[in-house]
Amino acid sequence: MLTAIVGVNWGDEGKGRMVDLLSSDYDVIVRYQGGNNAGHTVVNEKGRFILNLLPSGILRDGTVNVMGQGMVIDLEHLVGEIARLKEKGIEISPENLKISDKATVCLPYHRLFDCLEEDRLKDKKFGSTRRGIAPVYGDKYMKKTVRMGDLLNPEALKERVFSLVEWKNIVLKGYKKFFGAYAWKKLFTANGYENGAIDPSATYDWLVKNGDILKEYIADTGAFFLAAKDKRIMFEAQLGALRDIDYGIFPYTSSSSTIASYAPIGAGIPYAKVDEVIGIVKAYSSCVGEGPFVVEMDGKEAEDLRAAGGEYGAATGRPRRVGAFDVLASRYGARVQGATALALTKLDVLAYMDKIPVCVDYEADGKRLGEFVTDERLYRAKPVIEYLDGFKCDINKCRTKADLPENALKYVEYIEKAVGVKIKYVSVGQAREDYLEL
Ligand code: GDP
Ligand code: MG
Repeated sequence: MLTAIVGVNWGDEGKGRMVDLLSSDYDVIVRYQGGNNAGHTVVNEKGRFILNLLPSGILRDGTVNVMGQGMVIDLEHLVGEIARLKEKGIEISPENLKISDKATVCLPYHRLFDCLEEDRLKDKKFGSTRRGIAPVYGDKYMKKTVRMGDLLNPEALKERVFSLVEWKNIVLKGYKKFFGAYAWKKLFTANGYENGAIDPSATYDWLVKNGDILKEYIADTGAFFLAAKDKRIMFEAQLGALRDIDYGIFPYTSSSSTIASYAPIGAGIPYAKVDEVIGIVKAYSSCVGEGPFVVEMDGKEAEDLRAAGGEYGAATGRPRRVGAFDVLASRYGARVQGATALALTKLDVLAYMDKIPVCVDYEADGKRLGEFVTDERLYRAKPVIEYLDGFKCDINKCRTKADLPENALKYVEYIEKAVGVKIKYVSVGQAREDYLEL
């Protein structure tokens, strides 16, 4: 049984929370794309956890967690994340954590290039998290990266690291010229490099040091999956459909494939078919970073929703942009994901609203668009908003459909009909048990 839990919107839909809830039915939880550029927040009986790299199943005893080859892994970040979880009493061992030997290492200089490029772009920046994700995926496809398996034989790696750094220092010279000496020195020092060039020995030492800590987890996950044929496997995505490199709002996307059909490839089971795709949609919209966001609210309306939903980035703490539920974007997202069912999250957040706004269409050049678009019309589109009656009460303790106030249920049914996919779960709070099944 293969199930994918994926985002239907711009990310931060509550995937981590749903994986944490549903993972009890699965033996293996796999992350198949992305790096530490996004984060899941999970609250359960063990505490409150922010996970950037580790699969959410790590918080559940008896599961095996796999970091698939579609991921890019900042070793230092992972070492820190593992240490923080262990401090809180979470057990992490080669038994319950396996890192694909084919996953890509995100190096410190990828972070540096991410920062330099965002600074060069200034107000045209992508709103990158500056954690090196775009540069490292770029290098992956140029076949100029280190893979996790290389860390098992560091001696053989040395020459290649020196050659990679030599190449990067050539590129760096161009940036230096562009920024001029003063700005350059400031940028370089701010990013932890003091002497104007990337030091190949320091890069190599970083790999050896962190690789030494992580090597016990590195495994041939392809072989693991072959042996795990009868296991129940769950794929856990990071970010949402609208951030997919191919199908999202390019270039304001992530650099990886966030959609369910990529999951078997990024996970290490390329021959498998996903049986079930649970699309996570949020009861309203949020978006981190730059790019077109048609339903964006501003002023007090935005502040109220942001505060009610606690919409601040798990990875960065940045305030998220917020807006009404977007029918067009969600229908598109559910379609590219191939969602077989939906989980609607954060319905409780809307309790304060007298009228709940829903974006039912886009308008551009005086015409209704009727469908989500990813071309330049998206930058001009204005939302067509309709209002549903608010439910105006705390629904955090609702555990069955019958517990939901009439207007809350009406809202759920409205969304189900508009998006065209069955809503199977409704989440009404942060904690594991705060949900109901329809
Ligand atoms: P992810 O990246 O999709 O896993 O989502 P994030 O963790 O970035 O953001 C979701 C946030 O909403 C987290 O802080 C969750 O604890 C919280 N959350 C998830 N579901 C619910 C819900 O139904 N109600 C409320 N109030 N909070 C929720
Ligand atoms: Mg998130």
